[in-house]
Amino acid sequence: MTTVQVVRTVPDLREALAPARRSGQVVGLVPTMGFLHEGHVSLLAAARERSDVVVMSLFVNPAQFGEGEDLDSYPRDEERDLLKAAESGADIFFAPGSGEVYPDGFSTHVEVEGLTDVLCGDPARRGSGHFRGVTTVVAKLLNMADPDLVFFGQKDAQQAIVVRRMARDLDFRAEVVVLPTVREPDGLALSSRNAYLEPTERERAAAINRALEAAGSSMPAGVDGALDAARTVLAEAEIEPEYLEARYADDLQPAQSFNGRPVLVAVAARVGRARLIDNVVIEPE
Ligand code: AMP
Repeated sequence: MTTVQVVRTVPDLREALAPARRSGQVVGLVPTMGFLHEGHVSLLAAARERSDVVVMSLFVNPAQFGEGEDLDSYPRDEERDLLKAAESGADIFFAPGSGEVYPDGFSTHVEVEGLTDVLCGDPARRGSGHFRGVTTVVAKLLNMADPDLVFFGQKDAQQAIVVRRMARDLDFRAEVVVLPTVREPDGLALSSRNAYLEPTERERAAAINRALEAAGSSMPAGVDGALDAARTVLAEAEIEPEYLEARYADDLQPAQSFNGRPVLVAVAARVGRARLIDNVVIEPE
């Protein structure tokens, strides 16, 4: 286990990173909202492998929660997170307060157009403000830590696509690294929000990944056939998706077929109190 340095302000973070900077070491950043699970741990492990200094940020970002969402009840356990981060190879645990991230009079936002008004950003659903909140805080974290590498999970596929686009468009020097989704043995994608699930809901929630697998194995039936197969699996578990869509994985335009370009099949569904998301990328035949 490494010794973790806890820092809460931007000047302290910069000071903690100064020696690494001076000696040209590789700095890796893993942004999280805490309540760490094996998905986060996999990002930390990858960061450990590829970086000399690993920074994990813990910030439950109010700007990416919509009205009526679970900001107040979002699971938090900083003490446990600190232990897990240490075990998983973090060197610096950056846990700023919200006044540090959003000082009085905060009025600047980063918005990626085009990719953010579908799926989780659909104004009729979670609202486009969600991704504005994500890209603003990620841009800030990149400016604060100035990492060489920044790690995200494929579990939040749209977020990864949006952040990659932002980093390219705004010339952030960090390389965006996206890692595979870590799952429970029954296929449920790990998520801090799984903590909301009651035992029977937890069982039903496994249908989300089974539905994505059904879509993958129904490729020959075309996009509509694949989505129908997935919908059937969800219906059997009495899950009504908020969305279940097939979109090209590079530009998130609606997919017409599985020929030619990788297709992202993405789903969001409420199970009990938890809003869960998951996805699969179907490679062309
Ligand atoms: P969060 O704390 O939920 O904001 O997630 C922090 C990072 O962990 C994001 O880049 C997520 O995509 C990633 N992540 C969350 N769940 C998983 C998972 N099951 N597998 C891999 N990465 C994940």
